[in-house]
Amino acid sequence: MILSKQHYALPLVVGVDVGGTKIAAALVDADGVPLHRVRYPTELSSPQATLDSIARAVDQVIEEAGLLPMLVLIKAKRAEQRWIETVHSVDQLQRLEKSCLLGVTEFDCPDNQMCRDTFETSMLAIGGILETAKLLMGGKLDNAFCAVRPPGHHAEPHRAMGFCLLNNVAIAAAAALADGARQVAIIDYDAHHGNGTQAAFLDDPRVAFLSMHQWGIYPGTGWYEEAAEARGRVVNVPLPARSGDRTYGCVAEEIVAPLVRRFRPELMLVSAGFDAHWNDPITSLGLSSTGFHSLSRRLVELADEQCGGRIVFILEGGYEPLNVARGAMGVFAALADRVFDDPGDASPHEDPDSAQLIDKIRNLHSFQK
Ligand SMILES: [Zn+2]
Repeated sequence: MILSKQHYALPLVVGVDVGGTKIAAALVDADGVPLHRVRYPTELSSPQATLDSIARAVDQVIEEAGLLPMLVLIKAKRAEQRWIETVHSVDQLQRLEKSCLLGVTEFDCPDNQMCRDTFETSMLAIGGILETAKLLMGGKLDNAFCAVRPPGHHAEPHRAMGFCLLNNVAIAAAAALADGARQVAIIDYDAHHGNGTQAAFLDDPRVAFLSMHQWGIYPGTGWYEEAAEARGRVVNVPLPARSGDRTYGCVAEEIVAPLVRRFRPELMLVSAGFDAHWNDPITSLGLSSTGFHSLSRRLVELADEQCGGRIVFILEGGYEPLNVARGAMGVFAALADRVFDDPGDASPHEDPDSAQLIDKIRNLHSFQK
């Protein structure tokens, strides 16, 4: 099947088979179908621009890697309400649907911009993720990247926050558990703390959650001593500004790997936000696109080691479309075990020294070196 821009005009799951590795991306876009058409209050980017850039990145990766002949396209189905209710209250869901239908343009606070089609787009995005996870758990996909908007990781069970209306990754985890998975690990490398995902699973021993994020920015939570009741299972890594490839490499080896090895999940989900890029306009971290690839590759390797390679990356934030495109390319290369290098994108900043912080977090959760 030929992949062309027109295919991105539909809510799709794109599956790619690369010599045994299969990749899927759920793209929700405009042109005659529901779309979450809003401008973020920051006025720095629009979801449309970001999705266009992801579409370009996917095209480029597929073309460069010669994947086109192996491409299959699977339409995302609208999520059934019962799956949303595994995380969010019925009241929350109904208020969101009604607000959209009435043409309300913000939900609960000015951050959460909506258009009339936002609710349907969210349901399709979640449906695409759930379909992808089901195919993966059924052995029909080996791994996946779902490029969807709106993002989800700030959305708590009873409130929408930070551009996030429904928590995509949490719903995917809850659905996998309801479908028979014993344990799920969620790794969140968006620049902001995944407060919504943490809230969803604080009391659920079947889910491990790790968020690495910039300390001191929105939403203000995610200090490493938080979530004491879930010590060893809910892990926060609050990083100083300018933390980049070197720091994230240490976090992956010294904190992420021990958590995943000890928890032994059957499925790994990743909140993949590309706003940890060094020139993201609303954050101050220091990852390069090569760093995103290395981190993603490490997560894929851990999934190979611990859960038969079952890993789904789900798009969260990222406010400079080019960074999202490069980051998405890095993830696709990591999933397909392809070489990835983007030497022109190195961070101009030095990593601050986070050795003590990493040691403290390791000790707090009793992770072995
Ligand atoms: Zn973010």
